[in-house]
Amino acid sequence: MSVLESPEEISPSPETTPEGAHSEGESMTSTKRSAPSASASPERASEQPALFGDLPLFQEAPTTEDRTLEEIRADVGDCTRCKLHRSRSTIVFGEGDPHARIMFVGEGPGAEEDAQGRPFVGRAGQLLNRMIEAMGFRREEVYITNVIMCRPPNNRTPEPDEIATCEPFLFRKIRVIRPDVVVALGAIAAQSLLGTKAPISQIRGRFFDAHGTKILPTFHPAFLLRAPERKREAWEDLRKVRDYIRSLSQAERPAR
Ligand code: URA
Repeated sequence: MSVLESPEEISPSPETTPEGAHSEGESMTSTKRSAPSASASPERASEQPALFGDLPLFQEAPTTEDRTLEEIRADVGDCTRCKLHRSRSTIVFGEGDPHARIMFVGEGPGAEEDAQGRPFVGRAGQLLNRMIEAMGFRREEVYITNVIMCRPPNNRTPEPDEIATCEPFLFRKIRVIRPDVVVALGAIAAQSLLGTKAPISQIRGRFFDAHGTKILPTFHPAFLLRAPERKREAWEDLRKVRDYIRSLSQAERPAR
């Protein structure tokens, strides 16, 4: 069972998040992390039953930590782990700054992404670019990827087995990049990253602790194209992310 069955069980937002009186369009420079993180996602590790004291009953298989995104990409290879490999043209691994302070995670590649091998290059991608710029970043300064790396036929919603096959690679990317915040775009990304079935409308705009970082769910840009009246809420969410990153720049950044 996931530790995050209901949103109430997820850690609340950092109290320190300032409400921003900051100018738009200011670009932020990326700073390197301090200490490397060696652990797997702590919320899952802590679920093990104890045999004696804090000795785990079942020892998890030792994991080798990835050092680079290239290592993860090499492991993905010419993937045939799920049925999506039959209809895809290209594996869309992700792109951006490997030391990014912000990661954006969508659902999965669409037609344009499948053709180009790059995430968020269609209409939703154009809107995502504007959202990133409104936060004061350039697209090249962030890292953009998806829960699944292959386009589902006719852009259907990814199926549970496809998500289960691909999401470990996403979690590994997060552990390598170690961003300050992961913005989960839409329900599929939020549910995968938080291990919850909660609807996006219930969990958006709040910071959660998972995968050794902060996760903030918001609406998917494709949804915002269909429901532009919800853009205001998405912008409120992204402002929280921007202000949190700025608060870390001003104070000492947490060691991870
Ligand atoms: N929608 C997504 O979720 N991801 C993309 O890369 C493009 C559209």
